[in-house]
Order: sequence, then C-alpha cells, then structure tokens
Amino acid sequence: MIPDEDFYKDPQVPGPSKEEVRCLVMCQARMKEDEVVLEVGCGTGGLTVELARRAAKVYAVNKNPQALQVTRKNLDKLHPTGNVELRMGDAPQVMEDLPAYNLLVVGGSSGELEQILKKADQQLKPGGRVIVTAILLETKLYSIKIMEELDMNPKIVEIFVARGQSTNLGTMMQGQNPVAIISGRKKT
Ligand code: SAH
Repeated sequence: MIPDEDFYKDPQVPGPSKEEVRCLVMCQARMKEDEVVLEVGCGTGGLTVELARRAAKVYAVNKNPQALQVTRKNLDKLHPTGNVELRMGDAPQVMEDLPAYNLLVVGGSSGELEQILKKADQQLKPGGRVIVTAILLETKLYSIKIMEELDMNPKIVEIFVARGQSTNLGTMMQGQNPVAIISGRKKT
C-alpha cells in the first residue's frame, strides 16, 4: 500500500483515502490482474493508483477537471504504466459509452448513486462486483437498499482507525473518520 504522504495533494480536491481504508477497499475488491475496473469519483487518485497496480485496465471518472489533473499527477508519480484512462464528466453520462468491466468502485456519486448502480448492473461482466465507499450515513443505507433491489446481496463493513501520535506525555491515539465499504455482486 502506498503511504499517504507519497500522494500529491490539492486542497481543492478530496482524498486520498487513508492508507488503512485503501487497504480494506483492495481487500474487498478481490482483484484479478486481467480485470477491468470502472472507478467513479477518483478525487486525488488514492484508490485509482492502488487499483491500477492490481488490474489490467482502469477507467477513472470525475466531474471535476481539477480532480483529474491531480489523479494524473499521482499516476505519473506512482504508477506510470498507462493502464488508466481518465474521463471527465458526470458519471451516468460518461458510463454511456464504456466497454464492459468486472468491478465498479464508487468513491463519490453526489445524488446519482441509483443511476450509477443500475447502469453498472447492465454493464458489468458476469460475476461482476460493485463497491461503494461511504462516509455519509444516508449513502450507507441507500447503497444497501439499491443493491438489495438489484439482487446484489450487499455486505457492509466499516473501518474506524486510530493512529498513534507522539506527544510529550506518550503516544496519543487519534481517531480518523469512519468509512463504510458496501460491496455487492451482479446476479448472473
Ligand atoms: N477515493 C478518492 C477520493 C474520492 S472524493 C481518493 O482516494 O482520492 C469523491 C470524488 O467524486 C470527488 O472528487 C467528486 O468530484 C467526485 N464525484 C462525485 N459525484 C460524481 C459524479 N456523479 N460523477 C463524477 N464524479 C463525481
């Protein structure tokens, strides 16, 4: 896993997901090296770089061009192999002309999660998987509801991490925000 401090960051763009969160997402992703991934909402590219290291091809989408610039910088620095295509735009529109993929990872959806998951249900290859990372309670509940409607057998895990911070009294454990990872599988 790439250390957080190795990523180039832009204060205007969210991410990267913390190392421990990326670790659990990769664990849940169960990637195989010949697979194709669609990532919606790549932000800083924290997950993009980790996915690209483990997949044959990654399509990374963001509606904010600045986020794509930051993701590009991180790919150039940390994984310059050229197996990532960046697409600018709102996910449901960009998804209209993409080839089939094995895994969808959603890092941001801004109110369009239902459309994104329904579209993915049509586009995923047989046995395809979906993963939503969520910090909002509403997104957690909503992801489960939509995946249930699509018969994707959703599972949720949530990670709460505390990192040790040195102080003059000793090592203080500092908590980070919890992140939920909701995963499902396309019914074949
Ligand atoms: N996991 C990322 C951070 C994701 S931040 C990392 O590790 O770096 C979520 C991103 O999703 C934001 O940059 C936001 O612009 C993008 N986003 C939100 N809704 C979107 C949509 N409907 N289509 C495309 N991008 C979207």
